[in-house]
Parts: sequence; C-alpha cells; structure tokens
Amino acid sequence: MRIALLSPRGPLYRHKTGIFKKSLRYMPLTLPTLAALIPPEYAGGLRLIDEGIEDIPMHLDADLIGISAITGSSARAYELADHYRRQGKCVVLGGVHPTLLPDEAARHADSVVVGYAEDNWPLLLHDFHQGKLQSRYRQQPGMILGGRPLPRRDLLPDGNFTVGHTLEATRGCIHKCNFCVVPTAWGRPLQHPVGEVIQDIKNMRARRLIFMDLNLIADKDYAKELFRALIPLKVTWGGLVTTQIAWDDELLDLAAQSGCKGLLIGFESLTPEALNECKKGFNLLKEYQEVIARVHERKIAIMGTFVFGFDNDGVESFANTVDFVMENKIELPRYAVLTPFPSTPLHQRLDAEGRLLHKDWSLYDGQHVVFQPSLMTPGELQRGIEWTWKKTYSYTGIARRLWRGNLFWTALTANLGYRFYAHRLHQFYNCREPLLAA
Ligand code: SF4
Repeated sequence: MRIALLSPRGPLYRHKTGIFKKSLRYMPLTLPTLAALIPPEYAGGLRLIDEGIEDIPMHLDADLIGISAITGSSARAYELADHYRRQGKCVVLGGVHPTLLPDEAARHADSVVVGYAEDNWPLLLHDFHQGKLQSRYRQQPGMILGGRPLPRRDLLPDGNFTVGHTLEATRGCIHKCNFCVVPTAWGRPLQHPVGEVIQDIKNMRARRLIFMDLNLIADKDYAKELFRALIPLKVTWGGLVTTQIAWDDELLDLAAQSGCKGLLIGFESLTPEALNECKKGFNLLKEYQEVIARVHERKIAIMGTFVFGFDNDGVESFANTVDFVMENKIELPRYAVLTPFPSTPLHQRLDAEGRLLHKDWSLYDGQHVVFQPSLMTPGELQRGIEWTWKKTYSYTGIARRLWRGNLFWTALTANLGYRFYAHRLHQFYNCREPLLAA
C-alpha cells in the first residue's frame, strides 16, 4: 500500500514563504509517530511530508493520504484534501482540529480519526486494505501509551530542525485552562513507561533533548521517576511545566540534576482577574517572582509565556509585562493573543456573547486577533502584542534580561532568533496600522 502522511503549513510556518527561510523549530513528532504505527505489511510505499520544510507535490503517488491538522493549518489541510479527493485519492484527516470539529473535517475526507491514533490508525489501514473503510474512527476509552513502537524520526530530514531529538513522555494535562485545546481535545493524561522513554533516548543517541509534553510534571511522582532515570544518561533537556514545579524542591532539584537547562512556563497574565478568568487559579501572581528565582537558582533558563486580550487587559498590560520580564530576567519571553480555539469553553463563551470576529481558522494561530476584546479595540491588541515582541527583543531588552543571567551564550543565540521573529511578525498580521510608540 502506498501511503503519504502530510503536515500542512500554517500562516507563519511554511516552506520558503514562512517567517523563517527554513524551519527553525523542533522536529514534530506527529508524522513520525503515525509512521511507526503502520503495520509492516502496509509500510512499503510510505512518504512523510512536512510542509513547513518542503513543498507538497500536487500529484502524490499514493493510495491513501493521511493529513494531520491543527486549527491554524486546517484550512490548508482541507484545501489539500479536496484537491486529492478530486484526483480520486482516499483522504484521511486527523489531529487536534479534526478531533475538535469532526463533522467539519468529515466534509473534506473519506474518513476522520477522532482522538489519539494509536489504536485506530492501524485498524483504519486494515479496513482500507479490506475495502471496508469507515467514515469515522474514535479513540476508545482505556487507551494506553505503553508498548507502542518508537517514532520513525528517520523519515523526516533532521537537518531542517533546530532540535531533531524531540520526544514525549506524557500526553494531556490535569488542568482545565479555558483557552487550552488540551483538556477539550485529549481528555485524561497518559504516560509512556519511563523505561520506554529512556530506551527511546538511548536509541537516538541524543545528548540534547526537548520533551514536547504539554505539562511534564502533571504527575509529580512520574516526573521524579523520569528525572532520576535521566541522570545517568548525562543529557541536557528542556520541557514544558507549570509554575507548580517551584513548590517541590525535590522535583526541581531532580530536574536540574538530570540536565534540565530550560523550562517553558505559562505565566499567562500579570492580573489575578485574568488568571481566574482563564481558570488558571493555581498560578498565583504574588508568587511569580519567587517561582522565577527558584528556577534560576538551579541554573535553569525560563521561556515564559504570556497571553494578552483577557477581559481585564487594557493597553497598559503590554508595558507592564515588558517591565516584568526585564526585572525578572526571563531569558526567553513569548507572547500570544488570547485565541478562542473551536470547542473550548472560551470559544463557546465568546461565540455566545457575539464577540468572534470571524471563523477563518487559518488566523486562529495565537498571533492574530480573532475576537472583540473587552477593553481594547482589535487593532490595539494586535499592535500592542507586536510592540511587546519588539520591545522585549530590542538589543537593549536582550541585554537587560541576559546580562549576568543563566546560560548567557545559549540564551543569546535563542534571543537573536526571536529578535528576527519579532521584527518580521508584522508581515504576517492582518492588521497594518502603525505601532504603538516604541
Ligand atoms: S496547564 Fe497548560 S497544558 Fe494544562 S490545561 Fe493549562 S494551558 Fe493547557
């Protein structure tokens, strides 16, 4: 069977015309994971194409085409799916967006995979081979991650990614932030057995790793077991956690001892009202400085993420956030526009309030304003976030945050990459009004 697996481009990340000339991102795991799940008897003519790093041919020599889509890439996924179906190809859609909106995806596909594909993707291929393809495959309750084949990273060209050694130990999250697709799309958290994670790292011969898990410390006992097992490997790693890591000294010490050099932490907002609004009450604003200090004490750099556009956010929120990241020497701040992804509680509320500007999913990417904010105009929010990026990654801003900080040289390289990003972002906005005063 000839199978093609496609990851369509989004507005910002695309081959040649994207924000970077070549993909400056971590190797995605979705296509390699799907490739590994294909039973050997069907894997003879397999091809993986990530449109972030190469063009997708308009004529594919494939019997079955699988397309994985997030919301920002769903319009392109549908465009490709419609194109190949007109050529008589069988098209299967899956991933987070088809999981959130399976009926919408079904209008563009012969079959839709809803939820994780571990059990259903091999079943779907078997059905297709038998001529009995079903229109929908839903993840069954009780699915586990243990005992699965390791991702086929060798099928994507690793030279196009800043970090080729990506992996996952867990999926899902225990929290229910109202803007996040994770609780809506994926449900309860799942874990790979620690022994399998360690074997995956050994097989990769990796020295530098990125855990793609959405919250690596969701289960602290599991995280401690994992970090202990990492220590003998002498790797360095980065991953995503919540502020809660700061309040468990053993966990934080083990992270540092196991080679953690960078943590992405979602601070989201500097106002308690916004943290309550998004159901992130476990983030306590008065504790932020101590969280940062505790992580920095272990020589771990922080990629701090902040979201703008909550109902209590006025135009002052941009300058306040820049001041905060400067004073606390956050090595890699990142900013996003509050985005009501489909089917999330936030989307349902804003839709009911009549505040969605449109449902052009290609602009639901965390950098475009797609709803009417409460205390700003959409233009003020769009210009404000652009100003925040540029102010943070001005040469003065970089120097203020990094000077005498953790991992100066590593952070400097990443900061220069983000400076490039910050100064090109406006080319991809749908709003071209002047910036706030610099
Ligand atoms: S903690 Fe992070 S991953 Fe978990 S629900 Fe909140 S935003 Fe999503």
